[in-house]
Amino acid sequence: MSQEIPVVKCPTCGEKVAWLPENKYRPFCSERCKLIDLGAWANEDYTMPAEEDEPLSDEVLRH
Ligand SMILES: [Zn+2]
Repeated sequence: MSQEIPVVKCPTCGEKVAWLPENKYRPFCSERCKLIDLGAWANEDYTMPAEEDEPLSDEVLRH
């Protein structure tokens, strides 16, 4: 009997992380990487493609 442990990549550094309940920082490999990622969001280092998600209005199409 072998139990498969899911492995994910840390979004911050790409390190392989075992998806275990005791790994409270998953999908990050460490608290540091988690904080880095959260900090990046807070600093708006990521660009949100918000405009692409806006649905086309029917009113505009029916002009
Ligand atoms: Zn990491």
